[in-house]
Amino acid sequence: MLTRTRAATASPLTATVFDHHFARHLPGEAGPPRESRQVLAACWSSAPPTPVAAPTLLGWSDDLAQTLGLAPPDAGADAREVAALLAGNRLLPGMKPIAACYGGHQFGQWAGQLGDGRAIVLGDLVAPDGGRWEIQLKGAGLTPYSRRADGRAVLRSSLREFVCSEAMHHLGVPTTRALALVGTGEPVLRDMFYDGRPQLEPGAIVTRVAPSFVRFGNFEIFAARGDHERLRLLADYVIGQHFPEIDAAGPQRYADWFAAVARRTALLMAHWLRVGFVHGVMNTDNLSILGLTIDYGPFGWLDVFDPDFTPNTTDGGGRYAYAQQPAIAQWNLLRLAEALLPLVGSPEPLEAGLQCYGETFEHEWRRQALQKVGLLPAGQHGEDELVARLLGMLTLTEVDTTLFFRALAEVDPGCLPDAGLPPELTASFYAPDALPPAFVEHLRDWLAAYAARLRDEGVGDALRRERMNAANPWLIPRNYLLQEAINAAADGDLSPLRRLLAAIRDPYLAQPEYAAFARQRPEWARQAPGCSALSCSS
Ligand code: AMP
Ligand code: MG
Repeated sequence: MLTRTRAATASPLTATVFDHHFARHLPGEAGPPRESRQVLAACWSSAPPTPVAAPTLLGWSDDLAQTLGLAPPDAGADAREVAALLAGNRLLPGMKPIAACYGGHQFGQWAGQLGDGRAIVLGDLVAPDGGRWEIQLKGAGLTPYSRRADGRAVLRSSLREFVCSEAMHHLGVPTTRALALVGTGEPVLRDMFYDGRPQLEPGAIVTRVAPSFVRFGNFEIFAARGDHERLRLLADYVIGQHFPEIDAAGPQRYADWFAAVARRTALLMAHWLRVGFVHGVMNTDNLSILGLTIDYGPFGWLDVFDPDFTPNTTDGGGRYAYAQQPAIAQWNLLRLAEALLPLVGSPEPLEAGLQCYGETFEHEWRRQALQKVGLLPAGQHGEDELVARLLGMLTLTEVDTTLFFRALAEVDPGCLPDAGLPPELTASFYAPDALPPAFVEHLRDWLAAYAARLRDEGVGDALRRERMNAANPWLIPRNYLLQEAINAAADGDLSPLRRLLAAIRDPYLAQPEYAAFARQRPEWARQAPGCSALSCSS
């Protein structure tokens, strides 16, 4: 195990001096802070957090703290101070709480102004490596964008976001991060099943951290309102701050930037497919302009391999199902392109960006999918068909996606048993004794073709395994594991949360001490709320 040394420059959060680059450089407004309304001509609104009754620190990410140069809070008074800060109960010098104004297309329809209805950016800090990070509290109370909701978040959704943000980072998937999870000591009313029987649940706040939380929707709102001045200001700011590689001037500058956004979005989609992540609500207000995974809500992980899987109970049509995600990202990029049209003047330069999306996704998904079976994208030697055949086969029976690919790395495909499947593989099937003989034969044929392909490519077994184990996680924060951590935390037991958080720091490494996390979904979780189906009500 690596020993994690504390950065020499680590200092307490409570002693940090904040800045607010976004608010200093872009127009905002300071109307009544908790009054829901349409906010015109502003990128942000003043939004002081609403203090909570009894903040307690439930979770802390040492990894992110280290990146930020923050010392872990000591037990006692320091932890209480940190909890108060990250609940929004007190502000530090330089902090300037704001909520961002944005709009969005939700489930294919323009939804008008949305905005940060419960997320408040306190400010930013500069990490020891010079990186600037915005610190945002999700669930910190009403803002001008809360509409008819309460500005709060429940423990279950906050814990899920906290753990999964950090897990995604360690999985190598671009994401917003999470520094802390704070219980508010206040109940929150939620109708989790939309059955008219709302219940009180414990409230919590996640401290989200990212270079920027700007979404596609931040641009769409100004375009929809014909406010080309703010549209340009925001685009110039985002390009200048976050896309230093863009050096063109004039309209081409915006087109080049759009292509860069498209490229990042394509990379993100390939990563999601690789690790089996389903976002659940890919509305344009939930797509990051930096190509990060953002707004963890009713997301989920593939247990069995099912391209049509969506964990979101409010997405009956499966618009945001696992395999739809790359096409939806492209649809969302089209909406962004429309919003940027006034800056570019004509659609052709933006079309190049859309083409860049398609090409990057094809290339990147091909590369990652081949790596999942240990092959390189060497050319047209049948490797694409090989992967497509395997994925097609996996849909025919209940097989755990994550376990299967790790097990496949352990199989010697050149040395099949005389009958049946290699024993390494069987544990990933939900009903290994009931596999149809035709399926077994198909998989055996596939393994033989796979062995031949490996021989042709000259891939040794050690190299193959190394490639595969770098693309196929040993552990993902499965929906039911999160639910177990939530249930325990609600009863005051934080140890499952802490164990999960520790385990996901090395998701590609087989960690025997966490073997219980790398198993099939248990039968009780098949239909349990929070495990296979999640609501947006969080
Ligand atoms: P989502 O799809 O969860 O990212 O949220 C869509 C919109 O609803 C965003 O503008 C959120 O800020 C807002 N929203 C969601 N939940 C709440 C809440 N409890 N209070 C205020 N606004 C909310
Ligand atoms: Mg959102």
